[in-house]
Amino acid sequence: MQPVQETSETASSPVAAPRRLAVLGATGSIGTQTLDIVRLFPDRLSVQVLTARRNAARLLQQALEFRPACVVIDDPEGYRQLREALAGTGIEVLQGEEGLCACVQRPDVDVVVAALVGFAGLRPVLAALEAGKQVALANKETLVAGGALVHEALRRHGGTLIPVDSEHSAIFQCLVGENPASVETLILTASGGPFRTRPLETFDHITPDEALCHPNWSMGAKVTVDSATMMNKGLEVIEAHWLFELPAERIQVLVHPQSIIHSMVTFVDGSTKAQLGVPDMRLPIQYALSYPERWEAPHERIDWVQLGRLDFEAPDPARFPCLPLAYEALRRGGTAPAVLNAANEQAVQLFLQEQIRFTDIARLVEAALEHLSEPDEVPSYEHLQEADRRARRYVQELAGVAAH
Ligand code: NAD
Ligand code: MG
Repeated sequence: MQPVQETSETASSPVAAPRRLAVLGATGSIGTQTLDIVRLFPDRLSVQVLTARRNAARLLQQALEFRPACVVIDDPEGYRQLREALAGTGIEVLQGEEGLCACVQRPDVDVVVAALVGFAGLRPVLAALEAGKQVALANKETLVAGGALVHEALRRHGGTLIPVDSEHSAIFQCLVGENPASVETLILTASGGPFRTRPLETFDHITPDEALCHPNWSMGAKVTVDSATMMNKGLEVIEAHWLFELPAERIQVLVHPQSIIHSMVTFVDGSTKAQLGVPDMRLPIQYALSYPERWEAPHERIDWVQLGRLDFEAPDPARFPCLPLAYEALRRGGTAPAVLNAANEQAVQLFLQEQIRFTDIARLVEAALEHLSEPDEVPSYEHLQEADRRARRYVQELAGVAAH
């Protein structure tokens, strides 16, 4: 997926109709920040669909503000409440995965913002691409687990994928105007999270509250824990592999504690381009929605003098074993990345429920990767779903927690 060089008049010129969005995961961190961007550009963006897992109260509030054509909720009780509360408004209420897959294919949706968390995003993203939609992708687990399937859907149906994840947005921005063949390496920057300098011998005692306290970003719980283990960067290496079509050995990770450089590209002539900005997800979200344009906005600018310096260091594999595990899954291919992802999702959930230690996350993921990954060129959705279920069950069993 390389930036397409477009010069024609686009949807954001004053006379053009607004881009109509389906925001999947509207009640989450990326979802609510997406709606902040819609509020900034009411003439250029409109909301057709809003979805959530179970926060019916917030979804209702958003529906009454943005007046979408349709809302989707996973939780049956939330579905009942929303149907009652939205009766007579003309807003359609759908439920579950079927509802998600139907709403992204609506003819009145131009762009699907995929801000669900986890493997649950894969099927709706595939459905959106099969309908030829543009997908602004935050949900990295979709590409980690189903990268090959996503590629196939893109090739067959002519949809497009624009990255929202800040590192991938940075790389995407660095590639505008460049020939993809002149890229040598991608350098993904990582903050190093809250435990970059914590004594390693205390890692067994890390609590969920400590892991949920990220130094630079305010995000949903799952991605925040992933940042603390650096599995997040591992998932992002796999995400970058699928987005920019480069092998693992040409995707590097560099720890940069200030999170000002969001990532870099080194070209074959030895030159490196970087994209910088304050750590604020609204910037990459807006770029994904405005691309190929840039829209004037009052987001905070970098204060260079106050910033003073930028620091860099190599990631420490002893401290962050999840990062090499992700490289290993990418090298193995087949169902290995899906197994890594599912084992990690399950382990993070168990850690947040205080059923396992912080250091067990990498241990459980490694065991699942070792025992369950299978080679398969392009695993089918059903094969991936089975790999996902088995990995979750395996982690629950190893952790001594009853499967449910
Ligand atoms: P979040 O937990 O804050 O929000 C997740 C949203 O998805 C919520 O609206 C929730 O209701 C919905 N959801 C969750 N599970 C679901 C399911 N099974 N079915 C249907 N809906 C479901 O998460 P977030 O931090 O906004 O992250 C969303 C995605 O974006 C993740 O993949 C994350 O890795 C990625 N991302 C987030 C950030 C960030 O700053 N938050 C940055 C980069 C990438
Ligand atoms: Mg990121």
